[in-house]
Amino acid sequence: MPKVQETTLEIDLRALTHNFNYLKSKLQPQTKFLAVVKAFAYGSDSIAVAKQLEALNVDYFAVAYAKEGVLLRDAGITVPILVLHPQPINFKTIIDWCLEPSIYSAKILDEFIQTAEASKQNKYPVHIKFNTGLNRLGFRPGSVDTIISKLESTSAIVVKSIFSHLAASEDLNESTFTSQQISDFKSIAKNFEAKVGYRPWLHLCNTSGVINYPEAHLDMVRCGIGLYGFGNAVKEDKVLIPIARLKSIISQIHKIEPQETVGYNRAYQANDYEMTATIPVGHADGITRQYGRGKGFVIINGKRAPIIGNVCMDMIMVNVTNIECREGDEVIIFDGTHRASDLAESANTISYEVITAVSQRVKRSFIS
Ligand SMILES: *Cc1c(COP(=O)(O)O)cnc(C)c1O
Repeated sequence: MPKVQETTLEIDLRALTHNFNYLKSKLQPQTKFLAVVKAFAYGSDSIAVAKQLEALNVDYFAVAYAKEGVLLRDAGITVPILVLHPQPINFKTIIDWCLEPSIYSAKILDEFIQTAEASKQNKYPVHIKFNTGLNRLGFRPGSVDTIISKLESTSAIVVKSIFSHLAASEDLNESTFTSQQISDFKSIAKNFEAKVGYRPWLHLCNTSGVINYPEAHLDMVRCGIGLYGFGNAVKEDKVLIPIARLKSIISQIHKIEPQETVGYNRAYQANDYEMTATIPVGHADGITRQYGRGKGFVIINGKRAPIIGNVCMDMIMVNVTNIECREGDEVIIFDGTHRASDLAESANTISYEVITAVSQRVKRSFIS
């Protein structure tokens, strides 16, 4: 790779293909694969990622909001798209763009039926979401009869799938709870099928569910983080390849004297003669203030340079006293070796947060 000349998020579409094939290898051949591409494909680029996955014959996409689905349709994506968290104000848009809503409450069901009937739909596909313990979105198991009676009152919609979401699939200490969610979901599905008179697809697993609970793969799985290179487990991280690498360059180097301070609020004070480097990436780019004051770090010429003082909007300052470096040298914030999950740990957070935070201001470049 040529060295970057400015802050750049490199997106490796070969790594995406590798991760997709690896996750698929964990599935039965008939199990469908839904790729979660919400939040700009976890901070990368939803159009480039979706195009690549469409070329690899992915079965479904999911986004959180209707406008994310519209972006994909505008880019020419034709694979079905599930909208995980729609609001009634967007139901017309959802239908106009052939997006498929998650129906998670009686209110949402009533309002979607109304919109579908008003636009003269017949058997418009929807996905019913059940709450089996996450307590975030979804019908309670006891709502099946209510849902069925609403469905019987209309021909405007049809249930293409029913699904639920695991609360702690990555945490094996919670396997008793997860197994309960799995068996509860299976009984909801049985009850629902018997009453609706046809067989919607069933899906439950996110990435860690795919890895840890093969008995719960059902008809389809919904993978996000694994596609982007993180498996929430050391063993999986050895195989998955992070698709995004955030790199920058050193804008300026300062030699500072003992007792001088660095950055806003004078949050860092030098003990001795020290060298600092200023890097053009800040909280407006996704390196939030939680990484400041010695917690987070970047890699310069193979060595860790701690972020000193407060993170600024457009810059960070790092300590390079013991690192041989020059203005213009490349800086790695995260890549395949210095993983975003390691940076996340420094500030007590998770890979999901670091990678989705990379803002739209940061230049994207692609490797394919
Ligand atoms: C985001 C999301 C996923 C993807 O989860 P990962 O852990 O990233 O694989 C799956 N299902 C639902 C409902 C989600 O909101």
